[in-house]
Amino acid sequence: MNNQQNILIIGAGLCGSLLALRLGQRGYNVSVYEKRPDLRKVDISSGRSINLAFSNRGQKAMKLVGLEKKVKALCIPMNGRMIHDTHGNTFLSNYSGREHEYINSISRGGLNTLLLDEAEKHENVKVFFNSKCLSVDFENTTALFKDYTSKKEFVEDADVIIAADGAGSALRKSYYLGKKFLFSFSQDWLSHGYKELAILPKENGDYKTYKNALHIWPRGDFMLIALPNLDGSFTVTLFLSYDEGEYNFNNLNTENRVLEFFQKEFPDALSIMPNLLDDFFTNPTSPLGTIKCSPWHYKGNTLLMGDAAHAIVPFYGQGMNASFEDVTEFDKVLDQGYNDWETIFKTFEKNRKRDTDAIADLAIDNFHEMKDHVANPIFQEKRKLEMALEKEFPDEYASKYSMVTFNENIGYREAMITGRAQDKAILNLLTDKKIDISGDLKSNLEKIKKETEAILEDD
Ligand code: FAD
Repeated sequence: MNNQQNILIIGAGLCGSLLALRLGQRGYNVSVYEKRPDLRKVDISSGRSINLAFSNRGQKAMKLVGLEKKVKALCIPMNGRMIHDTHGNTFLSNYSGREHEYINSISRGGLNTLLLDEAEKHENVKVFFNSKCLSVDFENTTALFKDYTSKKEFVEDADVIIAADGAGSALRKSYYLGKKFLFSFSQDWLSHGYKELAILPKENGDYKTYKNALHIWPRGDFMLIALPNLDGSFTVTLFLSYDEGEYNFNNLNTENRVLEFFQKEFPDALSIMPNLLDDFFTNPTSPLGTIKCSPWHYKGNTLLMGDAAHAIVPFYGQGMNASFEDVTEFDKVLDQGYNDWETIFKTFEKNRKRDTDAIADLAIDNFHEMKDHVANPIFQEKRKLEMALEKEFPDEYASKYSMVTFNENIGYREAMITGRAQDKAILNLLTDKKIDISGDLKSNLEKIKKETEAILEDD
């Protein structure tokens, strides 16, 4: 595709700024319009996830744009889940039996800043802040914006418009409201919301709990998690129902009740969170949902990407990684040398949608796994066995989690199908006492492979 084209990107978040950088590197004229102020000048973090789990699919995209080393400096490795029980006992469950496989905690703001700085190094990339897209005329490839500084509205046109404007996408709304073509859209909310809290650093700047883990306090119907930040703090997130159960967001409405809840359920966390009540009553409670839609594109004029096309719940730590993978996959399609945007957009969506649908479903599965199953003995046995298999047979066995998180060379859908069959096989074999975690590993592996194949054939 001729790179003299003008591309308008809506949204300078994680996906939009990476896309702008990559298209800038390819020589396109890129204009990005972002509704918020420039996060490099104004603190806009309030209430949005401050840090994120960053893994191989995201790293692959960073490699594509030459930012691997710069991004590594922003990362804190997390080798496993540190599970906290109600008595404050902990145990570490590694993410993989292969030592080089771990996930990272990364600052959303730090990463977004880096991507914007790198994108703006290209003369052909321009970023405009405080410009909210109100609607998109996808027949004429123009977008209507409101400039928050002058309060004036203005229209921009381009050869193509790509919306990376997140879960509330203005382009997606225009598709839906425009009723000019058959546009399918679903939005499923969880009954749980989330609230961000913090464990602040010690006075000397040290971490108050173990740094290199994703901490989880699983409690069946709800959970607390914590990810480390470079400044010695942890960002803590409470996932809790809005209105079900003894404690829920609607009835945690007094200081005493919040303290009672934390004292009962998360006493060790409470002991290092003297700031709990301030955070609890200052920070917003936000909903969590899954958005699926199709088609993502209208002819060769407009395209949805990132959360705008496929917002997912955060429990696999893959929303940002998947949005970055969109850019890698889009780039691959551009490499194929098509010379019309319609074919490029169509091919991209055809290659990608089955994988983003799969990670959306896997993320819901992991919600139940994290809040509940991780504390279940048979699940723990399964994890121990999988760790041992990955360690002993690194080229022969990979758990579902490893395939999703650490194998950027297979799609989410393939990881989901194989991983679910493997999970079922191990749980069947453990329940029927046909394998024993202290038994011979090679024989366990053979039995799991055979059972997995049988399940895959049945499906
Ligand atoms: P966003 O990051 O939402 O960016 C959209 C941008 O568009 C924003 O800058 C916004 O201001 C701008 N915008 C919006 N509307 C307009 C408009 N009308 N006009 C102009 N600009 C507009 N993912 C992971 O991989 N790992 C994790 O650990 C993880 N944890 C998460 C925890 C929580 C609590 C949540 C909610 C999400 C988490 N995610 C995680 C998901 C991740 O945040 C998203 O998938 C990712 O931010 C998607 O990037 P995006 O650029 O598509 O959208």
